[in-house]
Amino acid sequence: MVNREDNYRHKGLRKKLVEALLHKGIKDKAVLDAIGKLPRHFFLDPSLDYQAYEDKALPIKADQTISQPYTVAFMTELLKIQKHDKVLELGTGSGYQAAVLSLCGANVYTVERQETLFRESRKLLLSMNFNNIKFFYRDGTKGLPEFAPYDKIIVTAACNEILQALLDQLAPGGMMVIPVGDDSQQMLTVEKSADGKIEKKIHGDFRFVPFLPGTASSRER
Ligand code: SAH
Repeated sequence: MVNREDNYRHKGLRKKLVEALLHKGIKDKAVLDAIGKLPRHFFLDPSLDYQAYEDKALPIKADQTISQPYTVAFMTELLKIQKHDKVLELGTGSGYQAAVLSLCGANVYTVERQETLFRESRKLLLSMNFNNIKFFYRDGTKGLPEFAPYDKIIVTAACNEILQALLDQLAPGGMMVIPVGDDSQQMLTVEKSADGKIEKKIHGDFRFVPFLPGTASSRER
């Protein structure tokens, strides 16, 4: 799967993307380094090879999207990842966000409801030697209770509300990043203090594909 090349043109475009993110206000060096290292075109159809380094969301399989690099960087920066943080991601999609979290030092548990995306992202990331990411094919609206609690939780699809199941699975001292809203979404951070108090903050408007209940098998498509 990773028999695709990462040539000088890809590397040059990637360097420009990192400069653009820096210019747009991303400061976290670990996040910028991760985006600078990761061949985003590996996560996309070969027809999008060079578009991969524009700061844009792009289509992936199952009518879903890989998030815009700025959005990935912004959400990861909000999470303030520490080495060995246990991070739950809901919405694996292409696997790109999971790979960025992993390169920042997190141990990642990622959940996807589309079987095709679950299979392909797992295969790709294992072939790229991402050994600290675990993949799950299921409905993420219930979180992933058997491995809870998590230091950090990131939801990469639009929710109508902050899901209680996810709050319950957040460790005391933990933080969740979740886009909430209908047509467009407000990026929220939700922090849980050591004594269980919840504090929400709003970080601007974004647009995501919807967070949907249930799973979709590859045979249905
Ligand atoms: N993080 C991804 C973004 C993918 S878009 C990336 O870096 O590419 C959001 C993803 O969330 C889609 O793949 C969609 O299928 C998935 N999703 C939506 N509802 C879900 C749910 N209830 N559980 C798990 N995944 C879900």
